[in-house]
This record gives sequence, C-alpha cells and structure tokens, in this order.
Amino acid sequence: RLALESQLRRALDEERMCLHYQPRVDLDTGRIVGMEALLRFIDPRQGTLAPGRFISIAEDTGLIIPIGKWVFRATCQQYRVWREQGLDVPHISVNMSGRQFMDAGLVDSISGTLEETGINAENIELELTETFLMENPQKTISVLGELKSLGFNISIDDFGTAYSSLTYLKRFPVDKLKIDRSFISDIPDDADDIAITKAIIAMARNLNLWIVAEGVETEAQLSFLKAHGCEEVQGYYFSRPLDVDTATRLLQRKHPFDHLIAKETKISTVRRI
Ligand code: C2E
Ligand code: MG
Ligand code: MG
Repeated sequence: RLALESQLRRALDEERMCLHYQPRVDLDTGRIVGMEALLRFIDPRQGTLAPGRFISIAEDTGLIIPIGKWVFRATCQQYRVWREQGLDVPHISVNMSGRQFMDAGLVDSISGTLEETGINAENIELELTETFLMENPQKTISVLGELKSLGFNISIDDFGTAYSSLTYLKRFPVDKLKIDRSFISDIPDDADDIAITKAIIAMARNLNLWIVAEGVETEAQLSFLKAHGCEEVQGYYFSRPLDVDTATRLLQRKHPFDHLIAKETKISTVRRI
C-alpha cells in the first residue's frame, strides 16, 4: 500500500495515468450513444492497474483531487479530438468520487476546464455512486443543482447497491440510473435479480429517469433487458473498456454492433411468438 501510495503521488507528473473507454449502446438501434472514461494507472512494477486497486488509496490520501481534475481534463480533451476527427460520440461520461465531489473548488475547476477545452457540459455525464449520494444527501443536492444548471447530465452509478431513499431519489436532480452489474450477472437464472431489475426499470420509467444496465455479458441478459424496457446497455457483450487507439478505431466503424443487436432482436421475436 505504501509503495503504491508513493507511486500514485508521482503518477501525474510521470504520465502514468491513462483513460480507457467503454461504449454505451442504445438497445434499439445498436448505436454508440456514449463512451465512459475509466481510469487506469500504469504501475512501474505491476503494469496496468484498474481503479479497484488504487482509488481508495487516492481517496484516503486526498490524491483523488488532482487525479480527478486530470481525469476530467483528459476526458474533455479526448472528446474534443474525437469531435475534430468527425467521430460521432453524443456523450462522454466521467466517474467522480465522493471526496472530489465535496471539494469546495469543484465547480470552478470543472467550469474552467470546459472553457479551456471548448466542450459543452451538455455532452458530459457525471457519474456518482449511489452509496456516496445516499450518505450525504442534503449536502449533495445543492452541488448537484449547480452542476445541473451548468448543463451536465448526472447519473447514479452502481444503482441498487446502497440503501436508497426514494424521497431523495425524487429530489436529486439526476437524469439516469445505472443498474449495478451484480443484478445483471445472474439474469436470467436468479429470480430475485430478475425481480429487482424489473422493479428498478419500472421505477426509473415512472420517475422519468433514463436507465442503463451495466455489465451485460450475454445475449440472454440483453434479451431480458430489451423485453423489459431498458434503454441503454454497457458491458463485455459489446466491448471491454478499450485504450484510446482501439476506441477510436471502434468509433470509425459505421455500425460496429449491428450484428449483435440484430441477432438479439431475432431471438426475442421468436420468444415472443
Ligand atoms: P463503474 O463506473 O461502475 O464502471 C464499470 C466497471 O465495470 C468498470 O470497471 C468496467 O471495466 C467494468 N465492466 C464493464 N462491463 C463489464 C462486464 O460486462 N463484465 C464485468 N465483469 N465488468 C464490466 P473498472 O474500469 O475496473 O472501474 C471500476 C470502478 O472504478 C468504476 O465503476 C468507477 O466507480 C471507478 N472509476 C473508474 N474510473 C474512475 C475515475 O476516473 N474516477 C473515479 N473517482 N472513479 C473511477
Ligand atoms: Mg461509472
Ligand atoms: Mg457502476
């Protein structure tokens, strides 16, 4: 942990952070409607590490503040590059940790970055975990309001993993719920996960929230989600998070997921008959 901490302290200066991108796919059209930026740390000894290995250390040490600023700027810059290459990415999403969200300088910092990079807040989704939002509901409502008024879309990530107060859910100015992967992984075998996922989708629709399922890995999961009105999916079934060159090549292809969606549609039609 100590070794990792000292590596993390030098990570930004030594350019050892990078972003991978995972597409989010519209379930009806198969189009890529967004890319989620996912942080990676290139540790000199252990190679590329996923955030599960280092985010909590970054949070505990406060390093998450400069790292988070870097992530936001790098995401905006990449978005701009894709735009300049004529690639169509309606949205790009960025994960934010609680500590970063509570930082008094957050709104000024991200407004400055938007201006500097020439990106509209409307094209960016900020993802906050349900656990964090529900731990600090009163405080977050005002910051969320400020971010909303700048034009950002706000998503609740890992939805279903914390104890959600439905009252707050109504009061939070959020646009989207991302159903946590843990519910999707045992569909269609686990009756409880099926019931919970159906209930989350129904609730989101009634609250006029957009719904995304995370961690879709199989055709059966996709079929189920489509049949129950889920609008957007993300997962290995379509693509793993990709380094920037591979993500760019994916965006350059005209309809990269048509075959997966078409296959799925045929199956669900057969089932319905
Ligand atoms: P998340 O935002 O919920 O991101 C989804 C995670 O699920 C990613 O893990 C992704 O690689 C993984 N995933 C996507 N599809 C599938 C699938 O079909 N199957 C399986 N088994 N996994 C899938 P990753 O990249 O390791 O990120 C983990 C978490 O770290 C993220 O969860 C997010 O909460 C956090 N994170 C990532 N980047 C950042 C960042 O820049 N800042 C902050 N504060 N947190 C970040
Ligand atoms: Mg996320
Ligand atoms: Mg998640």
